[in-house]
Amino acid sequence: MPVRVGVPKEVVDGERRVALVPEVVQKLVKGGVEVRIEAGAGAGSYYPDEAYEAAGASLTTDRRALFAESDILLGVQAPPTAEVAWLRPATIVVSFMNPSRNLATIAKLRDAQASAFALELLPRITRAQGMDALSSQATVAGYRAVLEASVHCPRLLPMLTTAAGTIRPAKVLILGAGVAGLMAIATARRLGGVVEAYDVRRAAGEQVRSLGAKFLELQINAEGTGGYARELTDEEKAQERTMVAEAVAQADIVITTANVPGRKAPRLVSREMVEKMKPGAVIVDMAAESGGNCELTKPGSAVLEHGVTILGPTNLPSEIPFHASAMYSKNLQAFLGLLIDADGKLVTKFDDEILAASLLVTAGEVRHAPTREALGAAK
Ligand code: NAD
Repeated sequence: MPVRVGVPKEVVDGERRVALVPEVVQKLVKGGVEVRIEAGAGAGSYYPDEAYEAAGASLTTDRRALFAESDILLGVQAPPTAEVAWLRPATIVVSFMNPSRNLATIAKLRDAQASAFALELLPRITRAQGMDALSSQATVAGYRAVLEASVHCPRLLPMLTTAAGTIRPAKVLILGAGVAGLMAIATARRLGGVVEAYDVRRAAGEQVRSLGAKFLELQINAEGTGGYARELTDEEKAQERTMVAEAVAQADIVITTANVPGRKAPRLVSREMVEKMKPGAVIVDMAAESGGNCELTKPGSAVLEHGVTILGPTNLPSEIPFHASAMYSKNLQAFLGLLIDADGKLVTKFDDEILAASLLVTAGEVRHAPTREALGAAK
C-alpha cells in the first residue's frame, strides 16, 4: 500500500501558509505517495483546490478522516490539541511544534502513541540544509520585516537628489545577523538604506560586510555550540548596551532578530533607548514571540511610544504566504525523503541523525528532554 500523506487546513489564527504546494504534491505523487489535502487548505496562500487535484492529490472535506487515515500528517503549526485524539497510533506528524508553548498538544500526541517531528529541532548540519524550515521561513520574515518598517517609516529610505531637494538615505540598524538579519540587511540595502548590523557572533561580521553593511564590533565573541550564540556575561552585556544605545539613537529603522535557542530573547533595546530615538523612528521586533528584544514590544501589536512605532509581529512568514509555503513545502519534501524509503515504504526506525534529533514524541514517550522536563513540571 502506498504511504498516505495528509495535509489539513491550518486553523491557528492568522496562519495563511499551507504545508504542501501543488508543485511538491506532484513530485510526491510521481514517487508513489498518496496525497490527500483538506479542501481549501491552500486558499490562504493562493494555491486553489484545482491545482492540487491537477497535481494528483485527492481533496477531502472530512478533516477527522484525514487525521485518522493518514500515515504522515503534515502541518505548518502543531495540530490542534482537540484533534490529536483522531490520529491512529504510530501516525507520524511533521510540523513546527513550538514545544514550550504547546505542552498540552505534545502530551496528547504522546498519549495517542503518535510520532511527532518538530522542525525547529532539526540539526543545522549540511545534510539537513534542504529541510531547514527555520531558515527558509526566517529568510521570508527578514524580508517582510523591512517592508513593514518602510511602510511605517515617515521617511524615504533611498538617497534622492531631486529638484525638490536632496534627501539623505535612512539609517537602518539590524540587531542579530543570523538568517533573518542577513535577509533584512540585503532588503534594506536594496531599498537604498544605509545599513549597520550587530551580532554577538564575530563570524557574522564577514557576512554583514559582504552584503555592503557596516558591522558594529564589540570586543567579545559569543559564538556558542552549533553556530548559535551563547548567553553573555553581565560585563559583556554592559558593553553591548552602550554600543547598541548609540546606534539605536541614530537609526530611523531598527530591526531586531536576536535569539538564543531555548531561552528568552535577549533584551537589547530598553525604554530609555527608545526615549532617545528620533521621532518617527520604527522598531520591528522579530523576537516578539520569544519575549522581545525591545522592552516596550507588545507581541502581535503595534505601539507608539515617545513618537517611535514599535511593531511586534509574531508570524511574518505568513504575510508572504505564497512563497513562504513554497519554501516550507520543499523543506518537507526533503524531510519526507528520510521517512519514506527507496521502495516507497514508511521508515519505522528513526535512527537517522536528523530524524533522531527532531523526534519530539514517539511510542508514548517524549524524546526531547527539555519538553519532557517541562511536561513533568506542568503536571
Ligand atoms: P537565531 O534565530 O537563533 O538568532 C538570530 C541571531 O541573533 C543569531 O545570529 C545570534 O547570534 C544573534 N544574537 C543572539 N544574541 C544576541 C545579542 N545579545 N546581540 C546581538 N545578536 C544576538 O539564529 P539563526 O538565524 O537561526 O542562525 C544561527 C546560526 O546558525 C548562524 O550562524 C547561521 O549561519 C547558522 N545556520 C547554519 C545552518 C546550517 O549549517 N545548515 C543553517 C541555518 C543557520
